[in-house]
Amino acid sequence: MKEKPDNINRRDFLRTVGAAGLGGSIALTAAADAKEKTTDPNAPRRIQKIKLPTRTLGKTGVKVPILALGMMFDALEKQIVLRKALELGVTYWDTAYSYGGEKSERGIAKFLAKNPDVRKHLFIATKASTSGKPRTIDLIEKRLHQSLKKLNISRIDLYYGMHDISNPAELTDDLRKWAESAKKRNLIRFFGISTHRNMPACLQAAAKLDWIDVVMTTYNFRVMQKKEMQDAIQACHKAGTGLVAMKTQTRKQKPISDEDEKVVGHFLKRGFTLGQAKIKAVLADKRFTSVAIGRDNISHLTLNVAAVLDKTKLTKEDMDVFAEYARTTCSGYCAGCADICSDACPDVPCISEVMRHLMYYNGYGDHQNARELFARIPARIRKKLLTTDYSLAEARCPQHMPIAELIAEAVNKLA
Ligand code: SF4
Repeated sequence: MKEKPDNINRRDFLRTVGAAGLGGSIALTAAADAKEKTTDPNAPRRIQKIKLPTRTLGKTGVKVPILALGMMFDALEKQIVLRKALELGVTYWDTAYSYGGEKSERGIAKFLAKNPDVRKHLFIATKASTSGKPRTIDLIEKRLHQSLKKLNISRIDLYYGMHDISNPAELTDDLRKWAESAKKRNLIRFFGISTHRNMPACLQAAAKLDWIDVVMTTYNFRVMQKKEMQDAIQACHKAGTGLVAMKTQTRKQKPISDEDEKVVGHFLKRGFTLGQAKIKAVLADKRFTSVAIGRDNISHLTLNVAAVLDKTKLTKEDMDVFAEYARTTCSGYCAGCADICSDACPDVPCISEVMRHLMYYNGYGDHQNARELFARIPARIRKKLLTTDYSLAEARCPQHMPIAELIAEAVNKLA
């Protein structure tokens, strides 16, 4: 008798999917299709064929899948990714006003126009990008209406009114009043902030402000090693602030090294790709509700789903391997402690931004986005990038990054 995918040991199946690379998408979909057919052949095709585990998003009380789809939804082929995400149970979609050349939100609207019944199953988050303009309450209000229009929905589930915040002083009482007003006007359900620079300070500040429902923060096997990050995460958790991780599958600036091969080999023996292990390492921390992964093709999406469905827990040895890898390769990763290098080089207070843009270029291969973001750095600062002396910043950088060399590479690739 032919064996159905459902009869395969679930763990073995998912781990095989994880290690199978491109074949994974086909296998996981086949399993879902087989299940659907055997359950009720006359039933209409269900959109969500797989139910992902959920966690409660802090004080919001809302349960969301532990994997969120965070990407540029703009291009036509992304419509297929959205359909697949739904089938795989990834119903939490995260975007931003600025993503995809400010077209990403329209991709969601396009999908919903064709699939209006889907809206009630989705948890949609977006962010008030400033696109290089000074951040004011008026601009946040304007962005909200622009996002609602582009998404073509009447209310956003989670609105990051402060996107890419690095200075907690921006969390003003005026912002609180605005967030409360937006909720009262039924334009947003929950208010959040997102941060990938000076994260510990921003998280600590948010934990003290009960009107901030959720913080989306860079969190991965590297930054989790830092005590100040752990303390800040704990403060938010204690306060009931929802926590969503991003930059979880972060990549290094430098090319493949012996350390990379060693860590990849370790996790492959355990049955995971390195990317899957990175997701597992973050989700092992139950203080986080969800990880938002910006992978925009079906193969990656399927591997990520397989990772969160698989119940195998990372061991202490696995986490030690990650800690050692983080230590030995730290000079290839900018930890976003922007105050340190900005204080050392006040003329160019954008070093960590440039490092992030270069990581988008080198690590993610996202050349267009990297260039667009780089172009938003004010021209007067960009002009100083190649003439600034970075020796003090390099001496203070806790990651020991070769800042001058990387800045020169960034200007060469992104300018
Ligand atoms: S360059 Fe170094 S000091 Fe500056 S943000 Fe990155 S890791 Fe921190």
